[in-house]
Amino acid sequence: ALDKEQMQGLRGIREFLKVRTSYDVLPLSFRLVVLDNELLIRKSLNILIQNGIVSAPLWDSNKSSFAGLLTSTDYINVIQYYCQFPDEIDQVDKFRLSSLRDIERAIGVLPLETVSVHPMRPLYEACRRMLKTRARRIPLVDVDEETGREMVVSVITQYRILKFIAVNNEKHTILLKKSVRELGLGTYTNLETADMNSSVLDVIHLMVKHNISAVPILDKDNKVLNVFEAVDVIPCIKGGAYDELTASVGEALCKRADDFPGIYTCNEDDRLDAIFETIRKSRVHRLIVVDDDSRLKGIISLSDILKHVLLFGEEEDNIRAG
Ligand code: ADP
Repeated sequence: ALDKEQMQGLRGIREFLKVRTSYDVLPLSFRLVVLDNELLIRKSLNILIQNGIVSAPLWDSNKSSFAGLLTSTDYINVIQYYCQFPDEIDQVDKFRLSSLRDIERAIGVLPLETVSVHPMRPLYEACRRMLKTRARRIPLVDVDEETGREMVVSVITQYRILKFIAVNNEKHTILLKKSVRELGLGTYTNLETADMNSSVLDVIHLMVKHNISAVPILDKDNKVLNVFEAVDVIPCIKGGAYDELTASVGEALCKRADDFPGIYTCNEDDRLDAIFETIRKSRVHRLIVVDDDSRLKGIISLSDILKHVLLFGEEEDNIRAG
């Protein structure tokens, strides 16, 4: 019966995602910071920090077109470049946002796919796109009818989508009574962790190597003290302080903004409905699964939750959709 209810809840949410558009997720009024591609990377950091944001769409003013999304991954690429070519620190200081593609090439990472979706397409499509490309955020790009030019309307994130689901689907989420343990929700093996004395660079290398956006910071008893997130890199390199990346994670975590939302934990026996309750009420970017003694058991990322909501029990559809 629990299985049946769980599926009924998930189906309800999927139907909801099919009748809503990405545009529906946007707040009634919002501010969008778009950065010119010719801006110095060094300056872009200050702008993000001043505006309290961690990403922004880029604009190519020569071509009058959208030029991709700037995210913490781009800064991590610059750091990797700096590590590979430490003699070029003067160059790094002169890099513009338009150089990011060259940096990707120089360090041999695959360019981030510049996916975008039309704001009036079903939200369900944006979610599928996100899961397929592993993008955590997707720009909404529309075409101005008069000029025929691209316009960046906004950016939607996994976080916003899950919040939107949580706020508008209470009648479906209360049906999700299976526990994290029963669902196997999240990752429980080969967890990548660090301690307070690990260097920021070590943690960044872990994130790059394993394609993850957070590393739990543990004490000697495996108790969770904190979590270092990809976005925590931004204040670390403010002002071009690349040489300070050898500092410890402990020092770096002190640079977090005052409004840092905190770390959210849960227990393996918590049910998915309770997790949606947390998402509804708080600014959750991942849940750290702990035991009764705060020892690390696993990690539930937003992508793990989104994947469950969209794909659980849908294997056949999956094969068809490729
Ligand atoms: P998101 O895609 O929501 O930004 P992540 O990139 O952190 O989240 O997670 C990607 C996948 O890796 C998820 O399945 C998550 O459970 C797993 N994961 C996240 N952090 C770690 C970690 N420190 N060690 C091992 N696996 C992780």
